[in-house]
Amino acid sequence: MLIQDKKIAIVGGGPGGLTLARLLQIAGANVKVFERDVHKNVRVQGATLDLHKESGLKALQKANLMDAFKANYRAGAEKLRIVDSQGKIHFDDHQEKKMEEFRPEIDRGPLRKMLLASLNDETVIWNSKFQTMEKYKNGWKIFFENGNSTYADIVIGADGAKSKIRPFLTPIKPIYSGVTMIDATIHNAEIESPTIYKLLKGGKIFAFGNEKTLIVSSKEKGEMSFYTGCKTDENWFINSGINFKDKDQILEWFKVEYAQWNNIWQELFESKKTIFIPRPQYYLPIDQTWETQENLTIIGDAAHVMPPFAGEGVNMAMLDALTLSQNLTNSNFENIKLAMQDYEIKMRSKASEITQLTLQQTKSLHSKNALQNMLEMFNNFEQ
Ligand SMILES: Cc1cc2nc3c(=O)[nH]c(=O)nc-3n(C[C@H](O)[C@H](O)[C@H](O)COP(=O)(O)OP(=O)(O)OC[C@H]3O[C@@H](n4cnc5c(N)ncnc54)[C@H](O)[C@@H]3O)c2cc1C
Repeated sequence: MLIQDKKIAIVGGGPGGLTLARLLQIAGANVKVFERDVHKNVRVQGATLDLHKESGLKALQKANLMDAFKANYRAGAEKLRIVDSQGKIHFDDHQEKKMEEFRPEIDRGPLRKMLLASLNDETVIWNSKFQTMEKYKNGWKIFFENGNSTYADIVIGADGAKSKIRPFLTPIKPIYSGVTMIDATIHNAEIESPTIYKLLKGGKIFAFGNEKTLIVSSKEKGEMSFYTGCKTDENWFINSGINFKDKDQILEWFKVEYAQWNNIWQELFESKKTIFIPRPQYYLPIDQTWETQENLTIIGDAAHVMPPFAGEGVNMAMLDALTLSQNLTNSNFENIKLAMQDYEIKMRSKASEITQLTLQQTKSLHSKNALQNMLEMFNNFEQ
């Protein structure tokens, strides 16, 4: 194996980094994951994730984790209702026959737990926020914010959209997509947001109107996550002057911004305990490229961040993990650099295709015809 006796450092313990660690470890590699979260029980915020057969699920299958996945995914959470701004249902997966292309949903917390449980003890070094690295011997000396440092023969950046590893490979920076989301999770949703909780029915809601979106997902433990999508300037979340810690200001913003929407949606913004996070959405150029290095590469959002409107980000991250792990552990390549180069070519090509699809979808869902566009798409799936 090309990476026999090599020390591999994966920076970032998200779905991409942990899937890669698992796939490399079952092939016998020496791998550590350096994660900035302080411990494994840190709450993982955010929407649920639907895994696709040809990418996320395929990686789990190769990682021998399908049984664990089946024990952790939430049956029925993928059932979708497409509604208009007044809450009128136009497509109801709860009634229709199941889509041929079944895309099971899993919460981020259980997905992380499941991947962590599959790794050897002490694989993840928590509280290790990457700061910088420098070339050392044939590899890298890595420095963390907590003052620790380590040596690795190969570094793999899996540190997400704002990757600190990416600049060591390429100066190409993410481009603003034109859409900013506000993302939130409601605890005890049945009590805090009863109308939407009922409309959600344990599944997902995609709501469209006036060139804006609102996407709601049920989560484990009676939680519900949602995010708004609006066309704004890149720095709107700063220039608007809104204090995102002040719930009243956000409710006021929603009432104005979504003024033509029915009042039923307002309860999503009324719980005092909800934390709101503004998220301007970025993507990377579809023709991005860089020169392959023999001891450094990137996967997942670090390599190809994109808005979530085609539901592909996590799936691409896990597919990268699969492609890279296969290249590094099969005997098809003469050396590590060629294995990395082949991975990067495949990864960039797939990312380019999926980024284009995602950008089309982002535009379509924030257009005047969003509802019709989405209904047409789902009706085509059904045929
Ligand atoms: C609101 C929202 C909804 C989404 N919905 C979907 C969806 O339905 N389907 C889908 O496929 N995708 C969705 N996505 C996108 C998806 O979350 C990402 O594409 C996916 O998580 C990427 O995985 P990753 O492992 O590459 O990066 P991340 O999940 O971002 O993981 C990166 C990890 O690196 C760690 N890290 C960051 N910086 C450092 C550092 N300096 N040092 C050490 N560790 C560091 C982080 O703590 C984190 O654990 C959504 C995203 C958002 C924001």
